Amino acid sequence: MDIQVNDILVMKKPHPCGGARFRVLRIGMDFRLRCEACGHELMIPRVKAEKNVRSLERSSEE
Ligand SMILES: [Zn+2]
Repeated sequence: MDIQVNDILVMKKPHPCGGARFRVLRIGMDFRLRCEACGHELMIPRVKAEKNVRSLERSSEE
């Protein structure tokens, strides 16, 4: 899966706050994501993140 920094990941399993959209802040062995609904930041392993992605939204803005 081609995931880049600044992409929005729409997750199958939503955050406890109810938001399902997460912005990608950093990519490595773990992804650093920020919940777009509540602003909470979290780190999750790449494999786990990719399994949980329903769709990807990429904004043209850089
Ligand atoms: Zn949240």
